[in-house]
Amino acid sequence: MNQYDYIIVGSGIAGLYTALLAKGQGTVLIITKGSIDDCNTKHAQGGIAAAISKNDSPELHFKDTIAAGDGLCDEEAVRILVNEAPDRITDLVNFGVPFDTIDGEIALTMEAAHSIPRILHAGGDATGEHIEVTLSKQVRSSKIRVLEECLATEVLVEKKIVKGIKALDCRTGSIEEFRCRYLILATGGAGQLFKFNTNSDIATGDGIALAYNAGAEIADLEFFQFHPTALRLPGVTPFLISEAVRGEGGILRNIDGYRFMPDYSSEADLAPRDVVARSILYEMEKTGSDRVCIDVTHLPPHVITTRFPHIYRFCLDHGRDITKGTIAVAPAAHYMMGGIKTNSWGETNIAGLFATGETACTGVHGANRLASNSMLEVLVFSKRIMEKTRKITAIEPPIISEGAEIHYSLSQGEISEVLPPPSLSALQQLLWDDVGIIRNKEGLTKSADILAAWQRSLPQPTDRPSYELNNLVLTGRLVSEAALIREESRGAHFRSDFPHGSPQWQRHIAFTQ
Ligand SMILES: Cc1cc2nc3c(=O)[nH]c(=O)nc-3n(C[C@H](O)[C@H](O)[C@H](O)COP(=O)(O)OP(=O)(O)OC[C@H]3O[C@@H](n4cnc5c(N)ncnc54)[C@H](O)[C@@H]3O)c2cc1C
Repeated sequence: MNQYDYIIVGSGIAGLYTALLAKGQGTVLIITKGSIDDCNTKHAQGGIAAAISKNDSPELHFKDTIAAGDGLCDEEAVRILVNEAPDRITDLVNFGVPFDTIDGEIALTMEAAHSIPRILHAGGDATGEHIEVTLSKQVRSSKIRVLEECLATEVLVEKKIVKGIKALDCRTGSIEEFRCRYLILATGGAGQLFKFNTNSDIATGDGIALAYNAGAEIADLEFFQFHPTALRLPGVTPFLISEAVRGEGGILRNIDGYRFMPDYSSEADLAPRDVVARSILYEMEKTGSDRVCIDVTHLPPHVITTRFPHIYRFCLDHGRDITKGTIAVAPAAHYMMGGIKTNSWGETNIAGLFATGETACTGVHGANRLASNSMLEVLVFSKRIMEKTRKITAIEPPIISEGAEIHYSLSQGEISEVLPPPSLSALQQLLWDDVGIIRNKEGLTKSADILAAWQRSLPQPTDRPSYELNNLVLTGRLVSEAALIREESRGAHFRSDFPHGSPQWQRHIAFTQ
């Protein structure tokens, strides 16, 4: 049978959680391009933010989220996020996620830009893995059909209503059509755009490309969060050194051992991620090094080994005992704030097409995400997708408020020079050099033009790598052009030629085909 009530593309926290809620409301198919556990979710370390302690409140969580978003959060969406957070945490506990506890109460830790400890974690620093394993076990033992090694290639839309999806069976190379009433894109982020990134291989912007090509709106893509501290060791893929390490007292030092963060921010090591990432870049430039260090040697060794067992073990496996020596780190691309524009019910501008998780842009992150709000966003808005679809009697165009948006189309790009052929490594180097932490007009124009030329020259994709490269090129164009249009610095978007914020840019940039 190829007709379902719900088809969900992706099997990270967004896909699995949504599927588990959907199974009570109809037939469900999950399509996922790797194995069920291939995703960013399982790499999440720090945890999930929720105002569940006596000293905390949704109001305080609201204020912190709005402050991080630097003028571009959708306040209604943030209210929903913080108010519905405690109930969604209860859902996860009921699904069996083993959050860490102290004296029988859920343990909460501090992370940058939160005004109070409110981060729930599991297995110390293995929160994402516990969530992914728990939810995928539940899915496997349910009636939900899961097609692994199956890559969604095209959203089927007729008369502005979604009808299903085309997908490539990566094992046989054949393309098949699947029909549904509701299609939910839960395809995650696009960290693979950049040479240095913390993401899994699957994060290739597929959802952005699928939705854009189907006529959906894509918003806020210029806001890409660079995590300040990924392990920087020769030959080792950047492994995240969670913010919680600094939350527990870790100190950033340059390679000369100097503690530099107080020179850049009164919040020192716990300043917002964009501030810390740029400060590290400046410090790397000053010292002529490609790294700085995090020092946790002043913390009791048992705190490090019990609170960060995963990080401790990973570093030890690479010859570094972090209880005795510092950890070499540098910034890396981490999280896509923008995405497929949705309203507060997860609806896109195409009837029956929903988006959730990192691929969606619900408006809660604005110009910068508050640490540990992303998995929370998944839970809150996936639940709302299910509430919405339960109530729908006839599929009609959704109501999407316009907000303060300006709509653009991609430019054609002009380039006369001879280009290297498009490849994953050339694309990642280009985006890292010209669309990275510090941007300017020249670099962004170059990137947009090269990507436009590459897009014209790419052959018809036939397998997973070629589809992914196509999707990265398109997503990279959208990121580059949005960043070029935004002539100011705000949140995670920093332009050296426009280093200040501008009130006239307190609005969103959206692209449609
Ligand atoms: C190292 C790291 C640490 C993090 N730490 C935290 C944290 O502490 N707290 C927090 O809140 N957030 C954290 N984040 C962010 C958070 O983990 C992600 O935003 C979140 O897990 C995204 O969930 P998702 O389900 O949207 O996407 P993912 O978990 O990435 O899942 C996407 C799924 O879609 C599938 N897919 C993609 N394209 C296709 C296609 N074309 N066809 C079929 N399937 C497809 C993938 O295979 C995958 O199964 C972290 C991220 C990273 C990388």
